[in-house]
Amino acid sequence: MRELAAEAEDVARAAALSLPFPEASWLIGFDRSFTEQLGKRGWIGMTWPIEDGGHGRTALERFVVYEQLIRHGAPICAGYFADRQMGPSLLQFGTPAQRKRWLPGIVAGTSMWCIGMSEPDAGSDVGSARTRADRDGDDWIVNGNKVWTSGAAHADWCYCVVRTDSSAAKHAGLSDLVIDMRSPGISVHPIKDMTASEHFCEVNFTDVRVPGSNLVGKENSSFRQLMRQLEHERGGIDRLLSNYALYTAVRSMIDPATTRDPVVRQELAHIEAGYRIGRNLVLREVLQQAPHGFSAATKLFCTELEVQIANVVARLLGPAAMLWGPDSGLGGRAAREVCYAPSYRIMGGTAEILRNIIGERVLGLPR
Ligand SMILES: Cc1cc2nc3c(=O)[nH]c(=O)nc-3n(C[C@H](O)[C@H](O)[C@H](O)COP(=O)(O)OP(=O)(O)OC[C@H]3O[C@@H](n4cnc5c(N)ncnc54)[C@H](O)[C@@H]3O)c2cc1C
Repeated sequence: MRELAAEAEDVARAAALSLPFPEASWLIGFDRSFTEQLGKRGWIGMTWPIEDGGHGRTALERFVVYEQLIRHGAPICAGYFADRQMGPSLLQFGTPAQRKRWLPGIVAGTSMWCIGMSEPDAGSDVGSARTRADRDGDDWIVNGNKVWTSGAAHADWCYCVVRTDSSAAKHAGLSDLVIDMRSPGISVHPIKDMTASEHFCEVNFTDVRVPGSNLVGKENSSFRQLMRQLEHERGGIDRLLSNYALYTAVRSMIDPATTRDPVVRQELAHIEAGYRIGRNLVLREVLQQAPHGFSAATKLFCTELEVQIANVVARLLGPAAMLWGPDSGLGGRAAREVCYAPSYRIMGGTAEILRNIIGERVLGLPR
């Protein structure tokens, strides 16, 4: 494992040089050729069965590789969503023909996927999704709008939640459709966030024809499938390490005299302890030792630490953290994280929603 970790660290450090900063590289670090390199190394679909085109390695090996890639800021986002959740969903709910059709491109790092869940009036409550798919012979015709769709401008495929039965109860009439992003009728509009990144998008579907064979799992069963998919989305190491490189860089330049400051010491102790707890929580998910639904707690704990890191690092850097732009060094990175880190608590389920899940589904508390 140590050799694998060292190899992944070398690969990550070299690749990160191509980016202006290493933060959130799993979400915004886009580099198709690097993703193809990962495919050639056998680092996509690592744990998937060999008969499905995967590499049959252990969950711990995948953890070791992705911990290094994300920690050091490798630009992995072109392949990451598919590796983290689309591939596992296809393995669990897809037909043999679907697995044969889509998994090889994911494993090779040549096909990029985006996640089409959120809509303008259906974020936390995906059951309110209104993007609809209506039958037309063997095909589906899709109309509606998705929003905050990360990477949609570059994606080849969208794993999309659509309403297939408008008369059913709101959580019961949804299905999963894989949509070719080059289909006529799709328009993608990148949205600029407050850090000037344009990685997420609005996606409009107007009479988009999708073959019936692209329906994944059972018709009108998306909600159950989605709960499984979100477990993959919430319990991984990406939720802990989005800005850890910034923390270690700032930590290494702290003057020992400053470190004697009790307030600074306490803040650093919180982060150091929190990082170790968060890593163990993720490992429990990876090794499938966590209770069902516990990924909500794992994601909540880890992303709150990421927000804390952004704020502590900015306090430690002082006025330098008011600088902005690519040439402003660690200060600029800290300023960017102060603005960006709150999104870690939103994407993949907000902190409030995760607290609801922990209360209701994990602890069984009354509503
Ligand atoms: C950087 C980033 C990337 C993203 N990428 C994607 C992507 O690739 N694909 C995708 O589909 N989505 C993506 N999202 C969207 C994300 O999943 C949603 O933003 C999130 O689910 C919240 O939905 P919303 O923004 O509509 O907020 P709302 O659901 O409108 O919530 C607004 C506020 O109300 C609170 N709230 C809502 N309901 C409750 C409740 N029942 N109890 C207590 N509080 C409540 C929320 O916690 C939040 O604070 C991304 C978001 C971000 C920030």
